[in-house]
Amino acid sequence: MLMNELLEQIYKDASSKIGQGQVAQYIPALADVDPNQFGVAICDIKGNVYSIGDANIPFSIQSISKVYSLTLAMQRLGNKVWDRVGTEPSGLPFNSLVQLEHEQGVPRNPFINAGALVVADMIESSFSTPSLAIKNFARTLAANPDIQIDANVAASEYQHKARNAAMAYLMQSFGNFNNEVEQVLMSYFSSCALKMSCVDLAKSFSYLANKGQCVFSQQRILEEHQTRQVNALMATSGLYDEAGKFAFEVGFPGKSGVGGGIVAIVPGVLSICVWSPALNQTGNSFVGIEALKLLSSHIDWSIY
Ligand code: GLN
Repeated sequence: MLMNELLEQIYKDASSKIGQGQVAQYIPALADVDPNQFGVAICDIKGNVYSIGDANIPFSIQSISKVYSLTLAMQRLGNKVWDRVGTEPSGLPFNSLVQLEHEQGVPRNPFINAGALVVADMIESSFSTPSLAIKNFARTLAANPDIQIDANVAASEYQHKARNAAMAYLMQSFGNFNNEVEQVLMSYFSSCALKMSCVDLAKSFSYLANKGQCVFSQQRILEEHQTRQVNALMATSGLYDEAGKFAFEVGFPGKSGVGGGIVAIVPGVLSICVWSPALNQTGNSFVGIEALKLLSSHIDWSIY
């Protein structure tokens, strides 16, 4: 099947699920988003981009940004990253605090909020303006100099920061946080508040489909073995406590965000971004998961 036909088929079939799920309520600036939007973009490793629906509308990437932050931390610190954050799935919601106390302030993985906050702390120590570093990184990867941070969303998250602040202070009490908590929270929220479209996101993740090399800038972003590590973490922890089901039903590494975006990687072949703002109980895009299930069944391919 040709890529455009495949996209049309997926789009048509997954659209039947629009209307189910609910837009994230706990970040007020996200609660107003029209839930009926739906877009899909695919970028293959030759740099061809295919898209359909609302694929050019920028949206709040939220936790998808955790992959950029982890990548920057791995570039700067290499294996030292793993002294402060684990590589195990958590089996718990993304903003859970319970494991953190039991496991002495070392988060299970970099894709739950606690883990992303430790990574944000590493970035804070490595860059003079961390939010600018992440924004510029996203711009380079997506080959789009117009990508912006939505200051409204970042401020709204900061006003409702209690849970994330609690995690950061708990980690500080265990000696696993080096910078001023409030400052790191601001940088973390700024990266979550990046606004990007499906096309931007699919393009920006090309390095994970292409053994660590960005298809657009030709820059080496990660070593090949590091690329495999990031993909493995996405496969085991990218969709929080739905990661097992996602592996079972879709079978690709993926990373979701509460803005309703999900990025997935077919290593050696393509990167894909699906977006539809209404979420299921786990905080993952309802229609997005459906679209990725359809993609995997149509191309009949899984990393397993
Ligand atoms: N900024 C959100 C938070 O910290 C990100 C959560 C998500 O996308 N799962 O809660």
